[in-house]
Amino acid sequence: MPGAQDETPVTGGAGDVSEGPVLVINAGSSSLKYQLVLAGSGESLATGLIERIGLDQGRARHTVDGREHVLEQEITDHAAAFAVLTAQFAEHGPDLAQASPVAVGHRVVHGGAKFASTVLIDDDVLETLRRLVPLAPLHNPGNIAGIETALQTFPDLPQVAVFDTAFHQTMPPAAYTYAVPLSWRQTFNIRAYGFHGTSHAYVARRTAGLLGKSVEDTNVVVLHLGNGASACAVQGGQSVDTSMGLSPLGGLVMGTRPGDLDPGLPAHMSRVSGMTLPEFDHALNKESGLKALAGDSDFREVMQRRAAGDPGAELAFDVVVHRLVRHLGALALVLGRIDAIAFTAGIGENTPELRAAVLERAALLGVEVDVSANESASGETRISTADSAVAAFVVPTNEEWEIAREATQLLAGT
Ligand code: AMP
Repeated sequence: MPGAQDETPVTGGAGDVSEGPVLVINAGSSSLKYQLVLAGSGESLATGLIERIGLDQGRARHTVDGREHVLEQEITDHAAAFAVLTAQFAEHGPDLAQASPVAVGHRVVHGGAKFASTVLIDDDVLETLRRLVPLAPLHNPGNIAGIETALQTFPDLPQVAVFDTAFHQTMPPAAYTYAVPLSWRQTFNIRAYGFHGTSHAYVARRTAGLLGKSVEDTNVVVLHLGNGASACAVQGGQSVDTSMGLSPLGGLVMGTRPGDLDPGLPAHMSRVSGMTLPEFDHALNKESGLKALAGDSDFREVMQRRAAGDPGAELAFDVVVHRLVRHLGALALVLGRIDAIAFTAGIGENTPELRAAVLERAALLGVEVDVSANESASGETRISTADSAVAAFVVPTNEEWEIAREATQLLAGT
């Protein structure tokens, strides 16, 4: 265990596998987010964020019992990041060897059409993930680096990959097929995949619980509105359509990504400006969305500028709402019957003005907003009136808990 002061190896837990704990890893190209979480209860034993991997001024934050411990040092690569992770646990607790995690659960952004569920990681899985890199060039390489280093750091623990795309593999062909040449679809697997699956699955299940219904009998549109954003139609616990497609660029307006565009745009920009494809790719991933409309990708900042009368921020809010209403209406028709709308993630959980604006426009579906419940919502909250034909909720997402549950269910064979 590199970097740890206590050299006791971390081995699998002896207790009930379904209770956890699970070490959940979300590795990006320059950051590593982790959480030690009990799969049974969702209780978080420690969280951490290691940033600026491979850049100057690396920083690691480890939070346990509400106390944050910050370490600043150069973190050259993912191996160094895992050394910091184990050292943080050793110094500030909980002791990883004593906590005895039952698994390491990795968030992986793109599983292509190959992975329709959570899998135990082996050499074949890793090889397939490498082959899938072209589908998510910005995300999967960091995920793979995290997995490779975790395998070296915790060789005695089962390691599991939980995919953002897997939940959407239940979409029917009519929903995921693009009307493009057959050779593109057959040779390059061009189709819609969808993302944020762990969040949509978790929120849909919690929403059914809040309605007092079984997941199998509940139809819900989940609006995951964070820095990345997507809407999902969940029918009886299964994704039947979602706003994102092949890549995490499509659908709703996001922090730095535009969401839906006319497919003619790349060729047009190339003709009128000489822009190259890599430049276009960069602009759509990093320079579009809220950043392009309001000058800032952070929705809190956009809301502050809007309150101060900034016309760019006003337009950004209106475009975000319009796009949301358009997708919500479409997904409601796809479902045929809709029981609830659920708002989640940083923006969805924290912006009553946005929720009110969307729900007022969704009156056609039979939603009636409870104005005061919406304004004061905190934690899981019903924000529609008791008489509302379609319920609306705020449901804070918990992707780490969902990953831990997925990992333990796989290990338990359930
Ligand atoms: P996430 O990707 O789920 O962490 O969400 C990040 C987004 O949520 C950013 O645009 C934040 O500005 C936004 N956000 C977080 N907290 C708030 C808040 N209290 N009010 C408005 N937006 C927020």
